[in-house]
Amino acid sequence: MSGKQKRPSPNTFDAVIVGCGIIGLSIALALKQRGKKVIVIDRGTQEASWAAGGMLRPLTESESPEFLSLCLESAALYPAYVKEVERLSGMDVEYDTTGSLLIALNEQEWTELKQKHALAQQQGIASRLLDEQAAQKREPALGRVTGALFMPSDVQLNNQKLMEALNTILKNEIVVGDVKKIGEHSVETERESFTADAVIVCAGAWTDALVPLGVAPRLGEMVRCRMAKTLRHIISRHPTYLIPRKDGTLIIGSTVKDEGFEKRVSARSVEKLREDADLLVPRIKGWPLVETWAGFRPYREQGLMIGKRDGVYVAAGHFRNGILLAPVTAKIISEAICDGSSRSFGVPG
Ligand SMILES: Cc1cc2nc3c(=O)[nH]c(=O)nc-3n(C[C@H](O)[C@H](O)[C@H](O)COP(=O)(O)OP(=O)(O)OC[C@H]3O[C@@H](n4cnc5c(N)ncnc54)[C@H](O)[C@@H]3O)c2cc1C
Repeated sequence: MSGKQKRPSPNTFDAVIVGCGIIGLSIALALKQRGKKVIVIDRGTQEASWAAGGMLRPLTESESPEFLSLCLESAALYPAYVKEVERLSGMDVEYDTTGSLLIALNEQEWTELKQKHALAQQQGIASRLLDEQAAQKREPALGRVTGALFMPSDVQLNNQKLMEALNTILKNEIVVGDVKKIGEHSVETERESFTADAVIVCAGAWTDALVPLGVAPRLGEMVRCRMAKTLRHIISRHPTYLIPRKDGTLIIGSTVKDEGFEKRVSARSVEKLREDADLLVPRIKGWPLVETWAGFRPYREQGLMIGKRDGVYVAAGHFRNGILLAPVTAKIISEAICDGSSRSFGVPG
């Protein structure tokens, strides 16, 4: 024996993560905090996690009881997650607990809101039905409404600031590269190879290029204008939502389009979003336009998948809820890697 220990190669890690969206970075942070040596590889573009609205609304977006319970679990993890991200980065991600108002503009929508209220009560989620007067008292800029459902536990945060904060915390763990090939313990970019005990694919709408799971892009277009009147709550009437930010701007979203990977904002969509918003807050159409943008939600017909497929960890298909679901996704994957937990979510393939 020479006594000389074999040094691990600099490109050998406990975990290699593909994708620097909120899912990949949240998993990286959770693993790093458990003492793991991680690397996150990304093409260096800003995708869905930057384009999102940053709303955390478990009930509004729920599809099934299992999904709702996962959303609620993640929402409950959020305060501690944000506190930790803010502590480590020294940044404020504008976690705002004012709540949201779901709006009904006719009797049918009002009946649907009452059903949602009943479901909230069943689940122990705080909610309150408001008549027109009460809704306008809570949000004076609202126009005529049939009624509203106030969801005090709905939250919004500035997802772009959250992404900046995560990038700051993990700056030494992130490398730029276009991943071309993955194996159970290997990842190859156009220039480099990495080996690891665990490979985790969090490639958002592009997941299928690496792991065939049936994930596809759904374009969401967004509009930002400057608020001429102050709004405080998230205001929504499916599929339109208004998100007032702390800087005095208002985000109006969003479309859901199945048009492949063509990232563009159409003039018609901008007009339609502003018209639909105008039904909620009169004359919003005239508020000064600041910018428009679009992103690709990772959609999967069989739903979200968090778990293992062919020896590789995958966290993909978060569709409209990836910001909300980041903490619980990070928990499931990090506990699988660090503790051998077999918990997973969704259909593997
Ligand atoms: C308009 C819009 C509004 C939304 N609003 C909300 C909301 O209010 N609340 C909410 O919870 N969710 C919302 N979402 C959904 C949420 O944004 C997504 O579910 C979430 O961001 C998905 O995160 P991700 O990390 O999986 O994907 P992404 O953020 O898209 O990140 C994937 C990353 O992987 C990289 N990548 C892919 N392939 C490769 C490769 N081969 N090599 C290297 N890198 C690669 C990409 O460059 C990208 O950086 C919204 C989405 C959109 C588009």
